[in-house]
Amino acid sequence: MTMPVLFVGHGSPENVLKNNPYTQALQKLGKTITPRPKFIVVISAHWVTSNTRVLTEEHPSVIHDFYGFPQALYQFQYLPLGASAQAQRLANQLNVSIDKEWGLDHGAWSVLAHLYPDASIPVFQLSIDNQKSFLDHLQLGKQLKFLREEGALILGSGNLTHNLQHLSRNIDAEPSQWAQVFDQKAQTALQLRDEYFLVHPDAWGSELFRQAHPTHEHYIPLLYVLGASTQNDQLYYPYEGFEYGTLSMRMVLFQ
Ligand code: ZN
Repeated sequence: MTMPVLFVGHGSPENVLKNNPYTQALQKLGKTITPRPKFIVVISAHWVTSNTRVLTEEHPSVIHDFYGFPQALYQFQYLPLGASAQAQRLANQLNVSIDKEWGLDHGAWSVLAHLYPDASIPVFQLSIDNQKSFLDHLQLGKQLKFLREEGALILGSGNLTHNLQHLSRNIDAEPSQWAQVFDQKAQTALQLRDEYFLVHPDAWGSELFRQAHPTHEHYIPLLYVLGASTQNDQLYYPYEGFEYGTLSMRMVLFQ
């Protein structure tokens, strides 16, 4: 049976300690994704490198890669096993580097802790190569498709819109108009599987892509998820909404 592919908007790391409709949607997904994954491959916005790397660590540590948050967040632990054998094999197949230094960053653990709270499923991360084009990332995502047949859940963790310069202080602020437009256009393009549009920022309109993504790392995980999806998949949005006016928390599920 083919595993689904999931993109999650992760927002603030504080979500890991919260109980709200967003975290409840993650918890529900963890219970309803079938079959239960044998292992999880995470492409997180927070692991950007100058080449593609695969984490082969057997006991990945938790990286608290953020500043200025409540102390409880810096003590948070999520300690699944790594999936080192599968990670090593993927690194060989893709001919990319292995990495034993990185752990799980908050793009990974803040989501996984709600999806699979008991941390019983082995996890590894695939980094985002900042030298690659959007098309390269999409193509690399296509090379991950076979993992779905092997019981892997492929999880992209970013945000469909991610502008930290124009964050509201209010988590429930009305979303900026450009954020709503971007989120809507992304839905249309995903529905149509419009790869050309999704890898060409210029196609979105003169300013729109730059407003939604002044930097690209929170968008790129979506390209891996799209790449690993197929025309046979149904598209679902298990959660939609915004935080702080500029962060789309939309989840995208292909299954
Ligand atoms: Zn982030």
